[in-house]
Amino acid sequence: MRILIVEDETKTAHFLKKGFSEAGFVVDVATDGLDGLYLAEEVEFDLIVLDVMLPGLDGWQVLMRLRQTGNQTPVLFLTARDAIHERVRGFELGADDYLVKPFAFSELLARVRSLLRRGPTRSQETIRLADLEIDLLRQRATRAGRRLELTSKEFVLLSLLARRAGEVLSRTLIAEAVWDMNFDSDTNVVDVNVRRLRSKVDEPFPLKLIHTVRGAGYVLESEQ
Ligand code: CA
Repeated sequence: MRILIVEDETKTAHFLKKGFSEAGFVVDVATDGLDGLYLAEEVEFDLIVLDVMLPGLDGWQVLMRLRQTGNQTPVLFLTARDAIHERVRGFELGADDYLVKPFAFSELLARVRSLLRRGPTRSQETIRLADLEIDLLRQRATRAGRRLELTSKEFVLLSLLARRAGEVLSRTLIAEAVWDMNFDSDTNVVDVNVRRLRSKVDEPFPLKLIHTVRGAGYVLESEQ
């Protein structure tokens, strides 16, 4: 699950990013409205946490422009004011939920999970490939009905490969998407993690799904 946080207060942005990362999300942060809108239009997110008071464009403008262009990514907005008209305005503009600052992170996480469960995400909830099944909402993967014991990062890695099954993904792309970092030349971390993932996803089964493409990267597919 990939989430965008648009928040200009550095401390809040930092703690939100940390919290969501620990909960297994891939997190991008924008610190003003223009950057937020740009990212939301360029990258496919499962959910956007949008602060209302932002430099550049405010949260309302970002939300309005997104909805005008047909972007239906669920938006949870953060407001410092608990005024009814603010909430009404948010919903009119197409927000899916709101939270009044200050809030407990556990509450935000619960709201985000509930939004992701109910949609209106158009993204798939389950990915199937051969006997591999990935339940994106419950963060569970099985092969031939057997539960795979994956860490949250391994789950993100497997979901990425599965979402783009049949497509060769470079180590750099994987490093950026899963660890949200630019590893430059050191993409060893990708190899190490793919090896661990393979030991769980492929080793116990006759049909291998994760393939190395020499000099290019990795691909998930059910045939050689
Ligand atoms: Ca703000």
